[in-house]
Amino acid sequence: MSTRAARYDAQVLRREQLSSHFVRLVLGGPGLAGFASTGVPDEWVALTVPGQFQTRYYTVRSWADGELVLDVVVHETGLVTEWATTDCVGDTVTVSEPKGSFDMPADASWLLLVGDLTALPAIARIMESVAVPVTAWVETPDEPIRDYVSGDVTWTTPPEGVETATADVVTAIDWPEGEGYFWMAGESAQMRAIRKHLMRERALPSAAYDVMGYWRGGGQKRQPRAVDPGPIWRAGKAAGKSDQEIWADYDAAREKTP
Ligand SMILES: Cc1cc2nc3c(=O)[nH]c(=O)nc-3n(C[C@H](O)[C@H](O)[C@H](O)COP(=O)(O)OP(=O)(O)OC[C@H]3O[C@@H](n4cnc5c(N)ncnc54)[C@H](O)[C@@H]3O)c2cc1C
Repeated sequence: MSTRAARYDAQVLRREQLSSHFVRLVLGGPGLAGFASTGVPDEWVALTVPGQFQTRYYTVRSWADGELVLDVVVHETGLVTEWATTDCVGDTVTVSEPKGSFDMPADASWLLLVGDLTALPAIARIMESVAVPVTAWVETPDEPIRDYVSGDVTWTTPPEGVETATADVVTAIDWPEGEGYFWMAGESAQMRAIRKHLMRERALPSAAYDVMGYWRGGGQKRQPRAVDPGPIWRAGKAAGKSDQEIWADYDAAREKTP
């Protein structure tokens, strides 16, 4: 039996500008017939755009009626960024089968979510899927996208000249009483700082949080062979590691990429 993840061809049906740096791509077509959601609200797919072999990861904002919605941050330069800023309607792309990792303990009585714009699709889906009180902080370089998701969302912007400062948001949080869960995603160096903060300052057990590096800042040029989280994820799961440990392995592997 093949262990290769399934891949699906899809066409870009619509492209919608949600804010200056945020673009909605609605994918569809017969190639998506076998696509199935995991139901895990932070599930993501690997997207390959025309003329490329490298992939980039995007959260499934929704999958309904044969339409797969991905919301894409367009920043200064980048493989998907440059394609997504063009009129890409009608283009054929490839997406992998989805994978998800959100795993809030059943006894959590509250949930805190923090992220930058790349995490907003996952934050929105998580907010729409849980029954406990949720507080979210979303960093955006643009105006807040208030109708993107309803609920308790505080919109922040990084200070002038700073790429992202989500770690500062977390250190200023007034934490609720009792047992809850903390989820965060965004730029990898910010995530490393927050893992340390949660372990050292807040002394949280690893089951009480999930912090994921979604992109690497500092304007580094991407290497031709980016680290694929898929094998690290599978190896980590096979070794019985927690999500937290697996994401730390993924960050470490990306750090080592020459
Ligand atoms: C599980 C997972 C889910 C994700 N979900 C989403 C999602 O739903 N929407 C989304 O937009 N992104 C999401 N991301 C992040 C996305 O995969 C990265 O931002 C990716 O690098 C963007 O690809 P690119 O081709 O535009 O830029 P790249 O070619 O990868 O990078 C080019 C340059 O841009 C910089 N860069 C990359 N991303 C950003 C950014 N966000 N802001 C500023 N500079 C950046 C890089 O450091 C590099 O210097 C997710 C990542 C993971 C791991």
